[in-house]
Amino acid sequence: MTAPSSPVVGSVTLVGGGPGASELLTVAAVTALQQSDVVLFDRLAPNEDLYSLAPNATLIDVGKRSGSHPVSQTEIEELIVEQALAGKCVVRLKGGDPYVFGRGSEEVLACHRNGIAVTVISGVTSAIAVPAAAGIPLTHRGISHAFTVISGHAPLTDDELKGLTLLGSTIVVLMGVGTLPTLTQGLLRHGMPADLPVAIIERGFSATQRTTVSTLSGVLADAAAAEVRSPAVLVVGNVVRLAFSGDAAADDLMARAAAEALAGS
Ligand code: SAH
Repeated sequence: MTAPSSPVVGSVTLVGGGPGASELLTVAAVTALQQSDVVLFDRLAPNEDLYSLAPNATLIDVGKRSGSHPVSQTEIEELIVEQALAGKCVVRLKGGDPYVFGRGSEEVLACHRNGIAVTVISGVTSAIAVPAAAGIPLTHRGISHAFTVISGHAPLTDDELKGLTLLGSTIVVLMGVGTLPTLTQGLLRHGMPADLPVAIIERGFSATQRTTVSTLSGVLADAAAAEVRSPAVLVVGNVVRLAFSGDAAADDLMARAAAEALAGS
C-alpha cells in the first residue's frame, strides 16, 4: 500500500493577451499558454488561435458582456483557485494588460488567500496600442507630454474632470462609450476647448476596426450618427491631429488642422 501523498498544488499565471492580434502576444505569454493545462479566457483576449497556442489545455470561456454577466467575478476566482488546487497549471488569459482595468489584481489576491503561487505576465494594453493602430501617438514633443488613462465605466466626478482640464494631458478612455455624454459635457463645462479633437477607435486590430474623428462639441452627434459601439478606445487631445491611418475622417481632420495653421500664420 502506498502512503497517501499530500496533494500537489498547481500554479496560476495571469497572462496579458494584448489588444486582440496574436502577433502582439509576448513570448512569455506564448510559452505560458503552451505549458498550460487549463486556460480561462474572455471576450477581449485573443481567443481565435487558442487551440493551437494551448494545445494541451482545457479551454474555459468566462467571457463577460457589459450589462449581462454569464460568469461572475467571484465565480471566475473560484474556478481559478479550484483548478490550481487540483494540481493544474492554470493560465488566466486577459485582454490587453492584466493590471489595466482587468480585475487582475483581484484574481491575484484570491490566489494568495488560498496559498497558490501566481505569476503575472504583462501584456500590450489597448490604451496605447489601439490609438497607435489608428495612427495616433499619445505623446508628441510640443503637443502633449503626458497621457491619462481613465475608465469610463462610471461617470467622472467634478474634481476629476477639473483635474483633467488643468493637467492638459492626452486623455484616453476605456469602456467609455456609455458615458461619452457626461465626459464630453463635463470637460466642456470645465473649460476644455470645444474644437479639441476626439477620436473613437472601435474594435482595434480586427478586420472591422474603425476610427471616428470629431471634436469635443461634435463627438456626441458624430458618434450617434456612426452608431459607435463598445469595445472602443477614446482619445481626447491635439495628438489626434497627428493621425495617419488612411482613415477618411482622420485625414479630413488633419486637412482642416493644416488649413487652420495656414490661416493663423
Ligand atoms: N486590460 C485591458 C482593458 C480592459 S477594459 C487592456 O489593457 O487593454 C476593456 C476595455 O478596453 C474595452 O471596453 C475597450 O475600451 C478597451 N479595449 C480592449 N481591447 C480593445 C480593442 N481591441 N479595440 C478597442 N477597444 C479595446
